[in-house]
Amino acid sequence: MSDRAYSNEIGPEIAALRERLRSFINAEVIPLEPLLDAGGEAAALAMSGLKARARELGLWALGHPAEIGGGGLPFMDFVYMNEVIGRSYHGQQAVGSLSMQDSIMLHRYGTRDQKERWLGPLVDGDIYPSVGLTEPEVAGSDPTLMRTTAELDGDEWVINGHKWFTTGANVAAFTTVFCETEPERQKHAKFSSIIVPTDTPGYQVKRVVPTMGSTLGGHCEVLLNDVRVPRDNLLGARGEGFVIAQKRLGPGRIFHCMRWLGQAQRAFELMCDYAKVRYAHGSVLAEKGEIQRYVAESAAEIQAARLMTLDAARLMDAGDEARVQISLIKFWGARMLHNVIDRAIQVHGGLGVTSDTPLEHMYREARFARIYDGPDEVHRMVVARHLLKDPVGNAPW
Ligand SMILES: Cc1cc2nc3c(=O)[nH]c(=O)nc-3n(C[C@H](O)[C@H](O)[C@H](O)COP(=O)(O)OP(=O)(O)OC[C@H]3O[C@@H](n4cnc5c(N)ncnc54)[C@H](O)[C@@H]3O)c2cc1C
Repeated sequence: MSDRAYSNEIGPEIAALRERLRSFINAEVIPLEPLLDAGGEAAALAMSGLKARARELGLWALGHPAEIGGGGLPFMDFVYMNEVIGRSYHGQQAVGSLSMQDSIMLHRYGTRDQKERWLGPLVDGDIYPSVGLTEPEVAGSDPTLMRTTAELDGDEWVINGHKWFTTGANVAAFTTVFCETEPERQKHAKFSSIIVPTDTPGYQVKRVVPTMGSTLGGHCEVLLNDVRVPRDNLLGARGEGFVIAQKRLGPGRIFHCMRWLGQAQRAFELMCDYAKVRYAHGSVLAEKGEIQRYVAESAAEIQAARLMTLDAARLMDAGDEARVQISLIKFWGARMLHNVIDRAIQVHGGLGVTSDTPLEHMYREARFARIYDGPDEVHRMVVARHLLKDPVGNAPW
């Protein structure tokens, strides 16, 4: 189904590259998932092997700009790749796309020194970045409430604050900390982003917060007590923190949604395969109307989400910020992901909630999608506010 949705736009070279990527993810990454999930030394070794193999196959860092050592794929071509990468929740790390948005931000807004220090190792997958926006004391969905501050003292920023959900901070080389630097300005213009190496005195990962699911490095609570970094660690201009965050989040959400499609498609295939062999009450499950409804509804939801995501991506590729379309796919895609995995679990019965299939892990990861990068309610609010002002704004005629 996915090939037909893309058939008008993908040339033979990109189709062949995507096929190579698909067989790498299916044949080499997915079989190692149980080992990678277990963590520890064996997992780290297996992941190094996968990274080396991705390089050998010409699949490494495909979407990073060529001038910083990446594959230089144009935006839309990389959008298509993400559906394949997303089939495994370890896919991003295995093919070096995990740090892509951070690398692009650094490439676009960083100083020469920042780029020299961080960009090469980021693109090579030798170090990981992290982003510190959310704070436990205030609503992350309204980030203008953020309380972390940075003040200039001579040639140094002195940062104080409390973050959490700084994903991967415990393994990252640096955190891009969002903080108030311009208290006299209005709303978003108060905030800047500053690169803080995680070994700076005063930067402390207080704990990896136990959560459902499991993602690289865990979700960390971070204390910043009189953290001093050079003035030049500012990323972009003063007061530009949210401009940078927005540039990062827009394309990032499209890549997220494409990867969710990869997860949903895999769950869909597992559901169909099992329904064809499980026998109960006189027939295999696939012959029962209720199960056929699960199959048909899942197919419709996946295809709708795919076309909506591609529509948002095309708009963005044409230079539009695509705010409404991005918010539409963020809550719609997250719900589709949840629904399809949920039905796949249901069809598997008790087996579906065991770790003998990947579905229970996929389900835990999928639950995050309705919260990170903005909860569903906030994205629905964005859509509704725009369309109440201009009800025909999203119609293509
Ligand atoms: C897996 C995961 C990874 C994350 N990684 C990072 C990271 O790397 N860096 C980082 O900085 N943050 C990260 N986050 C944090 C994430 O961005 C926040 O959790 C999110 O923005 C919501 O903020 P909050 O948790 O403070 O919820 P709150 O803002 O307190 O919202 C709580 C709930 O209130 C409701 N709500 C909020 N606003 C409205 C509204 N306008 N109308 C109706 N209902 C509303 C929603 O149901 C929402 O879920 C991550 C979160 C998760 C789950």
